[in-house]
Amino acid sequence: MKTGGKGKIAYALQAINILPLLLFGILIMLLGTHWFTQCMYTEVETELSNVTSSLSVMLDTLYPGDYKLVGDNAYQLYKGEHNLTNDYCLIDRLKEETGFDFTLFYQDTRVLTTLTGNSGGRIVGSGAPSVVIENVLQTGQPHFYPKAIIYNSSYFSYYTPLFNSDGTIIGMIFAGRPTDEVDAAVRKAVQPLVLVDIIIIVFVSAFTFLYTRRFVSSLMQIHGFLKEVSAGNLSASLPSSVLGRSDELGEIAHSALNMQHSLHTLVEQDALTSLANRRSGDKKLREVVRSSADNGKDFCIAIGDIDFFKKVNDTYGHECGDLVLKNVAYKLRSHMHGNGTAARWGGEEFLLIFEGKNEEESLRILESIMDDIRSMESEYDEHKVKVTMTFGLTHGNTEDVTTLLRSADEKLYEGKTTGRNRIIQ
Ligand code: GH3
Ligand code: MG
Ligand code: MG
Repeated sequence: MKTGGKGKIAYALQAINILPLLLFGILIMLLGTHWFTQCMYTEVETELSNVTSSLSVMLDTLYPGDYKLVGDNAYQLYKGEHNLTNDYCLIDRLKEETGFDFTLFYQDTRVLTTLTGNSGGRIVGSGAPSVVIENVLQTGQPHFYPKAIIYNSSYFSYYTPLFNSDGTIIGMIFAGRPTDEVDAAVRKAVQPLVLVDIIIIVFVSAFTFLYTRRFVSSLMQIHGFLKEVSAGNLSASLPSSVLGRSDELGEIAHSALNMQHSLHTLVEQDALTSLANRRSGDKKLREVVRSSADNGKDFCIAIGDIDFFKKVNDTYGHECGDLVLKNVAYKLRSHMHGNGTAARWGGEEFLLIFEGKNEEESLRILESIMDDIRSMESEYDEHKVKVTMTFGLTHGNTEDVTTLLRSADEKLYEGKTTGRNRIIQ
C-alpha cells in the first residue's frame, strides 16, 4: 500500500496555512519596524529641540545681552559683553556630553560649529541651506529635518531661531545627530522583534508542515485500504495510527473498516446459516492444503448431507426446512470451533475441514457431531423434527483440492447408497 504520498491536497493545505502566516509575519515585521522608526525619530527630534533650547538659555545666562557684530572688516560676534568668535569651549563641551553636533549661526552664516569639513577643519563661515533660511530665519519657527545632508554627511537636524531683546531674528542654533547612529539604534532595537517574528513563523510552519504530512499520510492510507478492498482483498488492514485518530479522518477509517466487515459478511458468509459460504469454504480449504504442504501438518475434510431432507420440506414446509438447516449449522459450528471450519457447501450439504487433525481425531469429532444431530429435535409448530446425516471423510493426503473433494464426495455417495446415517472413510 502506498502511504504518505504528497499530492495536491498536501500542497494546498500547506499553502492555505503557511502563506497567510508568512504574509502576516512580514506585515507585523514591516509595521513594527516602521512604528519603531517613527518613535525613534520623534524621540531624536525632542532631544535635539531640548538641547538647542538649553544652549540658547546657557548663552543667555552666561552672557546676558544681545547678539551684535563688532568691528570694521574682521567682524566679531558678541553676546552682551562677551566675544563669542572662536570661543568653542561651550559647544565642544556640550558635544562631549550629548554626542550631538552644534552650530551657532549669525543670520545664515556659521560662526561657531562642531561640524568639520572634508579637510577636518570646522566649517565656520559657510552658509545655511536655502530651505533652512526659508523655514527658520524667515518664519522665526524652529524646524526639524530628518536626514539632511551637511557637507556629505547625513544628520537629523534641528534649527531653532535666535532672537535679540527687540524680537528681531539674529541667527539660529543648530543641533544634529548623525543619521547612521540613529539607524543603527533602530536596527538594534528592531532585531529582537524580527527574530521573534521569524521564530514564530518557523515554529508554526514546521507544526503545520508536520500536521499536514500526518493528515495526508492518514488520508493516503485510507485511500490505499479502500483500493485494496475494492480490488477484492477483504483481509486488508488499516494501521492503528489511522484508526487511533480522534478526528473525522479516524471516523472515516472506522467506517471504511466497517464497510469491509459488511462486505466480508456479504461475500463470505451464508445468509441463512451464518456459516462460511461455499466461496469462503473453498478459499479456506485451499489455504489449509497450502499450509499443510508447507508445515506437514495433518488435516482431514468431510462432506456431509442431511438425509431425506426433501421429505422435511415436503412434510412440514420450506420454512421448517430452513429451521432445520439453521439448527444443523449451529451444531456443526459449535463442534468445529477450535477444530477447524464448517461451511455450507450448497443446499443441505456441508463441508468440514479438520485442521491439524489426523483421521482418527477427525472421526471422533465427526461421531460426536452425528450423535448430537441424531438426538437434536427442531421444534416447528407442534412438531419435533429429527434428521440424520451421512458424511464422507477423507484424509488430506494430497495437494490437489479437486481430488480431495471428489474423494469425500464419493464416500458420501457410498454412504447414501449403503443406508445413510453413517460415516464412510
Ligand atoms: P438424500 O438423503 O439422498 O440427500 O435425499 P434428500 O432428499 O436430502 O436429497 P435431495 O437432493 O433429493 O433433496 C434436497 C432438498 O434440499 C431439495 C431442496 O429443496 C432442499 N433444499 C436445498 N436448499 C434448501 C434451503 O435452503 N432451504 C430449504 N428449506 N430446503 C432446501
Ligand atoms: Mg440430502
Ligand atoms: Mg444433497
